[in-house]
Amino acid sequence: MSEENNKEMKGGISVDTEHLFPIIKKWLYSEKEIFLREIVSNASDAVTKLKRLASLGEAKDINNGDFRITVRADKEAGTLTVSDNGIGMNEDEIRRYICQIALSGALDFINKYEGENGGADGIIGHFGLGFYSAFMVSDKVELISKSWDGSPAVGWECNDDGEYEILPDTEREERGTDVIMYINEDEKEFLEERRLSEVLNKYCAFVPVPIFLEIAGKEEPEPKEGEEKKEPEPINDTHPLWQKQPSECTDEEYETFYHKVFTDFREPFFHIHINADYPLNFKGILYFPRINTKTDALEGQIKLYYNQIFVSDSIKELLPDYLLMLRGVIDCPELPLNVSRSYMQNSEYIKKMAAHITKKVADKINSLFNTEREKYEKLWDDIKLFVEFAAIRDRKFYDRVKDALLFKLTDGRMQTVSEYLEAAKEKHEKTVYYVDDAVSKAQYVKMFTNEGIDVVLMDTFMDTQIVTTLEMNEGIKMIRVDAELADALKGDGEQYENEKLVEAFKKLGGEHLTVKFENLRDEKTPAILSISEQSRRFNDMMKIYRMAGEDAPAGDLPTEQTLILNANSPLIKALGAKEEVNERAVRQIYYLALISQRPLTADEMTAFMDDSYGMIGDELK
Ligand code: ADP
Repeated sequence: MSEENNKEMKGGISVDTEHLFPIIKKWLYSEKEIFLREIVSNASDAVTKLKRLASLGEAKDINNGDFRITVRADKEAGTLTVSDNGIGMNEDEIRRYICQIALSGALDFINKYEGENGGADGIIGHFGLGFYSAFMVSDKVELISKSWDGSPAVGWECNDDGEYEILPDTEREERGTDVIMYINEDEKEFLEERRLSEVLNKYCAFVPVPIFLEIAGKEEPEPKEGEEKKEPEPINDTHPLWQKQPSECTDEEYETFYHKVFTDFREPFFHIHINADYPLNFKGILYFPRINTKTDALEGQIKLYYNQIFVSDSIKELLPDYLLMLRGVIDCPELPLNVSRSYMQNSEYIKKMAAHITKKVADKINSLFNTEREKYEKLWDDIKLFVEFAAIRDRKFYDRVKDALLFKLTDGRMQTVSEYLEAAKEKHEKTVYYVDDAVSKAQYVKMFTNEGIDVVLMDTFMDTQIVTTLEMNEGIKMIRVDAELADALKGDGEQYENEKLVEAFKKLGGEHLTVKFENLRDEKTPAILSISEQSRRFNDMMKIYRMAGEDAPAGDLPTEQTLILNANSPLIKALGAKEEVNERAVRQIYYLALISQRPLTADEMTAFMDDSYGMIGDELK
């Protein structure tokens, strides 16, 4: 080779390489392991391109479709090699694609965003520097390539100072490319099988070309007698489930896929297979995970892929915050392989994706309700926390799922809001009676159910929150069973007043207790304590907003309470008929009414028990 020619074979990547290389090495990516994804995805692209040429009839003889990527670690040589049998590059292409990198643009970008958190994460994808990420972990990189066009194989090597050399007399029989990375002393972990498997599983588990991991010098286990030698298995799944048509996938496949991707061996509640085309373009499968809302983290995980290559699992913008418990995979070829935080937060495209996904979730909830009501009712307890939360947070979501919002009645039946209202139409139009604790308020519930009024069980925190949402959106009133005396509970009977009794109860309950007589239909109940819906809700709200650490006032009830004495109750009448007020009977009746509202204090409890034992004693006299 002539002196002159020889010169042409060498060169500096760019005048600016001394700027670029240190930057690549230090912080082009926050995580160094990403280099492997970049090199493997180039290899996968090379295969895809060749397949395309073949399908266009341009390339022939393409290995009977046996495409593969090999990742081979050789500790002794200190090299990590990624090989593919894809399209390859000839010398001219190496000069164009590998030597001339879009430096100026990249440098502008770096100058602009230097110092900003993660600002550089987008550079590689935007400026085609993926290949150069190899220098984050390498002292030297060699490339050997043979193009599909039949040109002779060509080599290229480059040190981490950016000085490259093209080596035309390189041997390579087969079409394709080897990228040989001489791993830096500090990055030797990338020669360890465990670390490589970990990185490949994270980023390359669904790359569309089979990937084989080879460890030089590793002894293959001898096949046992009679057994055939096992063929090495690719580490990836080249046909992930989300790429299939939903009609081609079985429930079992969806489940297996979930277990594998999220290493959660519980069955998810349901899945949603999304296949969005124009104007959006993405595919994905979302799962509603089976989580224990008391002990598990409520935060799910969406893994974002770019043409089956893993991009990130920390992109919160893909879902509204009220759906963050979902798990799933989304593959979107429209987003860059490298996405920065600020890109995500400002991307209109991502916002549209999130809106589309949200709509699909609502659609799925509706279709489960409409087509599998029985199954849906069984699921309701587990999913309602999220469905109600979403409905509270987003009016659009509410409107989409409102027909599938269920009330659980105290007798176990489930009804939609409109079913409840329809059934109640005659007795209490546009009013829903509910109870927060069916045990302590069993007495109230019974009074309602005896009159044929269904009571809804609203016993979770989210239930109490959705009450106001339902009222606002449906124009209905929601009234807790202990809030007021429903007309249906009032009976006929003589008016009754007894000043002495009123005084005795007031003495016990304090100045904020109003005492009055009413005729209840249920004669067996002598007294009930009621607290207006408004002041109770205000009190509940204060409880939520009250600063942590501050002690709750004793009893924790709104101060204004009403004790309704049942004028139809023989007990009350007998009590009133006595010359002297029987203090013990007054205390018993009052505490029994109070127990439905709150636990007794220590003093109240002591008095209540003493009285009870005293009464038992009298009974046995
Ligand atoms: P990008 O992949 O974003 O274009 P890269 O720096 O990763 O940027 O690669 C630059 C170019 O080099 C690629 O576009 C491709 O043309 C070529 N190239 C890289 N790796 C390979 C490979 N294994 N086989 C064939 N061509 C490759």
